[in-house]
Amino acid sequence: MKNDLSRRRLLAAAPAAGFAARATAANSSDKPALMGGPKTRTSPFPSWPEFDDRERRGLLDVLESGKWNRGTGQFVRKFEEAYARLTGAREALATSNGTAALYISLNVLGVEPGDEVALPPYTFIATVNVVLRQHALPVFVDTDPETFQMDHRKLEAAITPDTRAIMPVHLGGNVCDLDAITAIAKRKGVPLIEDACQAHLAEWKGRKVGVYGDAGCFSFQASKNLNSGEGGAILFNDPDLRERAYAFHNSGSGLKNIGANFTYASSGSNLRLTEFQAAILLAQMSRLEKQTLTRAENAKYLTSLLNEVPGVRPARMFEGCTNNAYHLYMFRYEPEAFGGLPRDRFLKALAAEGIPASGGYSPLNTQQFLKSAMASRGYQRLFGASRLKQWEERNQCPANARLCSEAVWFTQNMLLGPRSDMEQIADAIRKIKTNGGGLARA
Ligand SMILES: *Cc1c(COP(=O)(O)O)cnc(C)c1O
Repeated sequence: MKNDLSRRRLLAAAPAAGFAARATAANSSDKPALMGGPKTRTSPFPSWPEFDDRERRGLLDVLESGKWNRGTGQFVRKFEEAYARLTGAREALATSNGTAALYISLNVLGVEPGDEVALPPYTFIATVNVVLRQHALPVFVDTDPETFQMDHRKLEAAITPDTRAIMPVHLGGNVCDLDAITAIAKRKGVPLIEDACQAHLAEWKGRKVGVYGDAGCFSFQASKNLNSGEGGAILFNDPDLRERAYAFHNSGSGLKNIGANFTYASSGSNLRLTEFQAAILLAQMSRLEKQTLTRAENAKYLTSLLNEVPGVRPARMFEGCTNNAYHLYMFRYEPEAFGGLPRDRFLKALAAEGIPASGGYSPLNTQQFLKSAMASRGYQRLFGASRLKQWEERNQCPANARLCSEAVWFTQNMLLGPRSDMEQIADAIRKIKTNGGGLARA
């Protein structure tokens, strides 16, 4: 595995060898693999996660110390300090996962049953789940299909006197328009929670995301660009809010408000990260900046190649996005430009070429889980039939529905190899395009 990787790096670095390798690779005149032709790519993309003795040493240190939780050990605190330093935030709080980070933020920012939260429908279900757990109404703001982010031009219309939080998502590691969204939040006096669960080290105008809102939430779940299996963190600029979040995540016990004999000033839950996870995160973090740079460079190259393929529209970035973390590489696919080849067949053809791809999210705002929540006894009692009917009428996201039918994603690990991997991805797409009509009929 390791030898193979360094060999591929060497091939990519040496122009002559690189040319020879490309010359023998499948080209666009070949028959697609789905029709029995040669595969464009036969080796797997870089595996995820990457780890070595740094992780092993960290885990053993925690194990042998016998201090396995944050109450006794030092690793969680060390990680919080390091993550705050890395992101430029004043404070960080580690949490059991990204969902917990969002859930804690909603609680300490005062989102209660009966309130409304404005959020995008193009996201992982966790963004919506936390609003439902709070018995608040998720109010969906349509998606800007060019960037795959919340369409800030439609945000203001979604805000009512009941809106208690605005929760945009930096989807795929790309960044939503933070200038526009922070201005609206400020003007309306509504707290802003950034769901940055996919956007580690992404930047807006040179500052890391997660520090623009009242709270910035991250996930360290296994697929994410910073990974401890499960885990999360919240960034705060307000130490008071961090103290309240600390108490909430620690069963109600804060650093200051702890009373004698198990008396409590606030209630909460247990949403703490363990020392083992923090040790892994500290080790993983030593690679994060370099990996982020590799992804961005590869993505930029891939975009330059795909911009030459009509019918493939890579997600754009807003002006202010100075770094895209590329948790996902996303583009829109237009079947008309591929001889009418439907997206599902395109994805199958890509997979057959050795390039795994996904069609991404289904529209969240129309799914059964949401209908069930709204029909529940609690929601009916809290909001009443007429307000829920109004909610349903307001719940229109046509651009998002269309985007969900057009999207194609590559996962972040596919951007961690040599540049020649990007050429293979583009080669496979061109080959499928050349044979689109045939594939559509086959
Ligand atoms: C992963 C993710 C979450 C939830 O994080 P978990 O750590 O899996 O709980 C929330 N929002 C988005 C956009 C995510 O991608």
